[in-house]
Amino acid sequence: MSDTEIRIWFGGMLCQVIPVRVVEEDENGRLLALAGGTRLKRVNPGRPIREIPRDEWPEGGYPLVDDVWFGNGILMWQPKGAGHAVWWFYTDAGDFAGWYVNLETRSEGDAVIVDKELDIWVEPDRSWEWKDEESFAAKTGDVRFWDAAEAAEIRAEGERVVKLIEAGAFPFDGTWCGLRP
Ligand SMILES: [Mg+2]
Repeated sequence: MSDTEIRIWFGGMLCQVIPVRVVEEDENGRLLALAGGTRLKRVNPGRPIREIPRDEWPEGGYPLVDDVWFGNGILMWQPKGAGHAVWWFYTDAGDFAGWYVNLETRSEGDAVIVDKELDIWVEPDRSWEWKDEESFAAKTGDVRFWDAAEAAEIRAEGERVVKLIEAGAFPFDGTWCGLRP
C-alpha cells in the first residue's frame, strides 16, 4: 500500500485535493481507500458548488481550505481508461451501504480527475438511479463544462456501467464489499 492524493476538478476549477491510500493496482485499475476523518483541502463556498451558477464563481475559482472527509471511509475503484469510478460506501456499523458511480475523466496516472456531474447510485440489491441529472443537463453547452456531444458520451458511459450493474458483473459482484476502508 502507498499513500498518494487525488485532485478533483469541476468546471475548470480545482475543487478537492484528497489524500488516499492505494490498496492495490494492476493492469485493470487502481483501488483507493479514503478513511473517514481524513484531512483534505476543498473549496467551501457555503453550498454545493453545482448549485452556484458558473458565472458567479470568482475569477480564478474559490480558494481551497482545510476540511475533513465527513462520514465513513470509502473505497474507490478506478478502472483503467474508463470514464467513471466506482465508490463503495459503508454504514456506521461498517456494513456495505451501496455503490456510487462517479462519471469522470482521469489523467496523470489517474491522480487528476475531472468530474462530469452525472452519477449513479446503486443499492446493495443492485437497484439503481441516476443522480444529478438536472444539474448535468443545466451545464451541458457551457464550454467550461461539456458540450452536447460530450454529454452524450458521458451518459453512454453511464449506460455501459448500468449493464454491469444489472448483470451483477464486476465490480458489482460483491468484490470488496467486505473490506473496510
Ligand atoms: Mg459526479
